[in-house]
Amino acid sequence: MAYDDNNIFAKILRGEAPCFKVYEDDMTLAFMDVMPQVDMHTLVIPKSPAEHLFDLPPEYAGAMAKTVQKVALAVKKASGMPGIMVAQLNGSEAGQTVFHIHAHIIPREGGIDLKFHARDLADFKMLEAQAEKIKQHL
Ligand code: AMP
Repeated sequence: MAYDDNNIFAKILRGEAPCFKVYEDDMTLAFMDVMPQVDMHTLVIPKSPAEHLFDLPPEYAGAMAKTVQKVALAVKKASGMPGIMVAQLNGSEAGQTVFHIHAHIIPREGGIDLKFHARDLADFKMLEAQAEKIKQHL
């Protein structure tokens, strides 16, 4: 399947759709997931038109890994959660729903269940406040 320039993350990268930004550099962007599975669920995307891991240029894969490490540490500190799950889905069969590669950063703690994937829109004021809190720990 060819990369679709009209996917929502491509629009966010072009500034055509809004996001609650946490971090940005020349090669990557991190922002809040608007249908979070848990508080502080954050996404990291490369600024390269790739659907998944297999069509991502290696230099962007490296940049993405660096940003995931940086933002995941900030999410860990901001959330106070002991565990951080990093997930990255490749293809609809794997559960991918947005076809611009992204990594999920998901705080975890025993006894806290994950909500459904990509289902319920969160309160935007809450997402904004969470993004600010994460930024303070970068
Ligand atoms: P995946 O199923 O791995 O492709 O994950 C896509 C993620 O993007 C889901 O967790 C959605 O909740 C999230 N998502 C969809 N649209 C937006 C958006 N406009 N801004 C932020 N997150 C989004």
